[in-house]
Amino acid sequence: MSFTEHNIHGLIYDTADGLSAVGGIRHAFTTRHGGVSPAPFDSLNFFEQNGDKWENVSENYRLLGQAAGLDMSRAVGNRQVHGDVVRVIRQEDVGRLRWEERPYDADALLTNLPGIPLVVYSADCCTVLLCDPVRRCVGAVHAGWKGTALGIVKEATDAMASVYGSDPADIHAAVGPSIGACCFETDADVPDAIRAKLGQEAEPFLTQRGEKYHVDLKQINHLWLLRGGLDPHKIEIHPDCTACRLDRYWSHRRLGIQRGGQIAVIALEDRA
Ligand SMILES: [Zn+2]
Repeated sequence: MSFTEHNIHGLIYDTADGLSAVGGIRHAFTTRHGGVSPAPFDSLNFFEQNGDKWENVSENYRLLGQAAGLDMSRAVGNRQVHGDVVRVIRQEDVGRLRWEERPYDADALLTNLPGIPLVVYSADCCTVLLCDPVRRCVGAVHAGWKGTALGIVKEATDAMASVYGSDPADIHAAVGPSIGACCFETDADVPDAIRAKLGQEAEPFLTQRGEKYHVDLKQINHLWLLRGGLDPHKIEIHPDCTACRLDRYWSHRRLGIQRGGQIAVIALEDRA
């Protein structure tokens, strides 16, 4: 399994082949290409808080929706706080996408309602999309290093089991483009936080180089998904490092605050 690039009139996004094969859902991992935002947000930017105009961001959502077959006027966002809170999205949350309208301080969203795109934001952090085709529910997770250390992806799959009755073995997961171990250099606080939760199992993904550490967040999220009981054959991990590939992605580590941001989005299709 791998990922497929889509280029719709210059708007570029990826999909995970395993999620696409499930059927009955729409999803996308965006890049920086194909939007209308001016520099330094050029051009497919979904962050409102860094100085881009809502008019531009809103048009970027519309263009993405058109390209990927998602009704982004019904999408729901969240105020990400690098925690481990998972929120269940309901009908009354539909369309709450602007920063000040977002209903939740949360880093993971779940729903079993069709036609509601769930949106998580990143510019190096991991994003993880989840789908259980049996119980028909989906999830979108933001996992920076803190959320990764806290195991928010496992919190999300546990919540799919408790709220919707999902068997974890049925859940498909795709980890999107994010900063790789090549570029995620940290102090000891990051590996310490991860070790505190995962112990020895995390060691292969925590590499010390002199005073610093290189941490593989994607693989640590993979570990959490396995701990959550997912079938390894149903987990996909995007190979790209956002910090290495500034030609394709926004990277907080490389660009600082004057930049745009990506989203990962997933929705259950409306059933006829
Ligand atoms: Zn890199």
